Amino acid sequence: MFSCENIKEFLGESLEQNQIQEKPSCMIIIFGASGDLTNRKVIPGIHSLNCESRIGTNTQIIGVARTKMTNEEFRDSLEESVKNYSRLKPGKTTYCEPWDSFAKKITYLYGDYDDPKTYQNLVQHLLDLNQKFKTPLNYLFYCATPPQLYPIILRHLAQFKLNQNRDSFWSRIIIEKPFGSNLETAIELHKVVNSIFTHSQVFYIDHYLGKETVQSILTFRFANTIFEPIWNRNYIESVHVNVMESVDVGGRGNYYDKSGVIRDMLVNHLLQLLCLIAMEPPPRYTSDYLRREKIKLLQSIKPISCSNFAIGQYHGYRSEQKISKDSNTPTYADVDLEIDNWRWQGVRFRLSSGKKLAKKETEIVLTFKQPPFSMFSTSLESVCKNQLRIVIQPDERIELKMLSKIPGAGMKTQPMKLTYLYSQGEPLPDAYERLLLDVMLGDSSLFTSAEEQRLSWKLFDSITDHGIPIQYVSTLGTNSLSSLVSQVNYLLPRKTDDI
Ligand code: NDP
Repeated sequence: MFSCENIKEFLGESLEQNQIQEKPSCMIIIFGASGDLTNRKVIPGIHSLNCESRIGTNTQIIGVARTKMTNEEFRDSLEESVKNYSRLKPGKTTYCEPWDSFAKKITYLYGDYDDPKTYQNLVQHLLDLNQKFKTPLNYLFYCATPPQLYPIILRHLAQFKLNQNRDSFWSRIIIEKPFGSNLETAIELHKVVNSIFTHSQVFYIDHYLGKETVQSILTFRFANTIFEPIWNRNYIESVHVNVMESVDVGGRGNYYDKSGVIRDMLVNHLLQLLCLIAMEPPPRYTSDYLRREKIKLLQSIKPISCSNFAIGQYHGYRSEQKISKDSNTPTYADVDLEIDNWRWQGVRFRLSSGKKLAKKETEIVLTFKQPPFSMFSTSLESVCKNQLRIVIQPDERIELKMLSKIPGAGMKTQPMKLTYLYSQGEPLPDAYERLLLDVMLGDSSLFTSAEEQRLSWKLFDSITDHGIPIQYVSTLGTNSLSSLVSQVNYLLPRKTDDI
């Protein structure tokens, strides 16, 4: 008989080998290469992938932006970011090459995004790199510019035929959020994208899906027998997806003041988390099956009603850089949803997110119903319901709260926690590492689809663009707010709730 443990030992090598696919080699072309995302996430992510030899050694990285820089200046500008933000530091671990040798894979082209000459130069540059390093002409385009530039970049790629798969070579594109600012603009974006790239070439990135703990929701639910039978309205009372940020709006005022927390967080990250928690089991782990289940779930969410949400703004928001002095943009939102299907009828789903809160934490909390009857002389059962807490970040873990007997005489109970720590000391791979590699491998399982985006916008358009007057009201007494949201001025307090 094999136990779980010795099967692992027996299969050891072959399990490992199964997971290792051929190392992809390509040209990674980043538009907006002088920006924050490229510096903090994209290049550090590629660097860690390279350290772990997950990508072909002749992979080339080409930055494109309007800022005038030489190759050397561009490389220098990235060195500090990679040292600060990359999971694996240059030269620090035995298998990470020194910065200078990684930097040789990076080149820079400057030019306007709407100037055909930029793309003409790019074509020539790609051919030169192909000649020099034998890098296959596989193109991974990364749109890391403000979103209004996406259509301009895409049309030029089409003009220079960089959008086409050729012979055995592929061309793929990563598009960053925001995917439009409402249903109408999302549809416009999809139209442009679909007129230039085919479905399998496009990767809409929602980096939450690349987080290790988010993927582990799927294994937690679907690789175990014990949770799925209780994962429904018979046992679960409520589900709370809560993304708390301690940072303020920082240098992103220009974008954020037009967007606000609902567009920035709820429409994408929080709804995606909700989908993974609440969707039906897909028959296989493939992007098509996963998407199908997420779409079904999104279609089951009832329209959001006014009385089911609260929005707020943190103190001092209006004095931040690039924020309008009379801005009513919400930086905090708390929404109740109902999922109108067999599994979830009557279960309360709550999404909340905000900036400048007392702590940074992303968690999903499932609260179970009380036991039907208490045989112990304690009232704890009524206040301490079983709770499953999936902490996505930081200190990634899964906690199960339950009651246990206090040792000693009598039958007194006390709350206790079973905790599984996801990381065993080593930093977990960054979401961008996983997602960049998946694009190179052509796997879109952890990316959102245009249909998911449209359904998500449809749900929230009713409260972002129509119908609800956002009226600024003075701070509610902090006593009536939970401590975490005490820094928030309420623009529109929930009518029926406890905050
Ligand atoms: P930036 O504002 O830093 O812009 C990236 C680059 O685009 C800039 O360095 C600049 O390069 C160019 N650019 C900026 N404004 C304009 C303009 N008006 N016209 C032409 N070019 C312009 O953006 P980020 O790097 O922060 O983000 C890039 C994209 O990724 C955005 O769509 C953002 O919403 C999305 N995103 C970002 C995240 C982040 O953590 N930063 C997280 C999730 C999504 P140059 O002038 O040299 O051409």
